[in-house]
Amino acid sequence: ACLNIKKNSMRIENGIKIGFNDVMIKPKKSYIKSRSEVKLARTFNFLHSNFEWKGIPIIASNMDTVGTFETAKELAKYNMLTVLHKYYSIEQLENFFNTSNNIMNSVAICTGIIDADLEKLHKILSLFEGIKFICIDIANGYLESFYEAIKKIRESYPDKIIMAGNVVTPEAVEEALQSGADIVKIGIGSGSVCTTRLKTGIGYPQLSAVSECADAARINKGLIISDGGCKVPGDIAKAFGAGADFVMLGGMLAGHHESGGLTVEENGVLYKKFYGMSSFYSMKNQNVEIHNYKTEEGKVVNLEHKGMISTTLQNIMGGLRSCCTYVGARTLEELHENTTFIRVTEQENQVYNLLESS
Ligand code: 5GP
Repeated sequence: ACLNIKKNSMRIENGIKIGFNDVMIKPKKSYIKSRSEVKLARTFNFLHSNFEWKGIPIIASNMDTVGTFETAKELAKYNMLTVLHKYYSIEQLENFFNTSNNIMNSVAICTGIIDADLEKLHKILSLFEGIKFICIDIANGYLESFYEAIKKIRESYPDKIIMAGNVVTPEAVEEALQSGADIVKIGIGSGSVCTTRLKTGIGYPQLSAVSECADAARINKGLIISDGGCKVPGDIAKAFGAGADFVMLGGMLAGHHESGGLTVEENGVLYKKFYGMSSFYSMKNQNVEIHNYKTEEGKVVNLEHKGMISTTLQNIMGGLRSCCTYVGARTLEELHENTTFIRVTEQENQVYNLLESS
């Protein structure tokens, strides 16, 4: 009878996994005199690519509302990266690269893994040889075909810096790196307009995923991106603290003058549409065929117009510098070394929010 129970019992890992709201970073004795001493730019070398890249490791997501030309131009001023969304035509890309000097160091070309995607990627990279970054992006990085695509793309481009994702577990990070990725993108279900956890029950709390995957990446001499779930600058600091080498942002960079998405006015207030890449809204916009065996895993929201993106970027950099100062870190690498998380049951003081809505 005992044996029967064992056979039928469910498989469960009991250790609790944490997200951004489950922790805070503990302050530590610091010898930094001014936040201006903190350097957010970092120099990167890669597992496969021989390029070196120096910049602030914040990346605009390849969502069509976020990874726009206008956003790329602004982020490039701060040496941050933008993954251009994959719906730009070759002609649009030609116009952009012809009119924006020195931008090739600050953008990545996004691709899926089907033949049409790869054909377009080859065409783009043959036209614009100066582009260094490729981002292979699929929702489910557990498909065997994902690793085959990484291998194929690595064979074609031994020198390019390849980012690939998304996955949330160490074995997948290792396999992606061994297949040819330099940087693995971590995050499933954590995005602000993502409904994967609701639709499928699949997911992994982002900070645990980052921390566990960072260890696997280090052992294999690779790097990781924390993708999704950052709501405020403090969350970005927590992602770096947990071991992310780069942090990718969607919602935090959406809703600006430079972002994509329709601007709408309601009762005199300006909003911008922001939506998940796998929402039906996005698929209709981009003329992606909607098959009836699939459901959407993204939603549409109206964000109050946030103005120019540079204000948000400065706010993020200011928050990161201040976080580093609280733990005595002069660089983002030191932030990881100096971070001790504490488990919490509260975040910011909500008293005025509660009063306003009561
Ligand atoms: P955010 O910074 O807004 O919290 O998360 C951005 C990330 O959400 C993106 O970089 C991407 O990985 C993920 N994402 C974007 N659109 C969708 C979608 O429609 N469905 C899902 N599951 N994830 C999405």
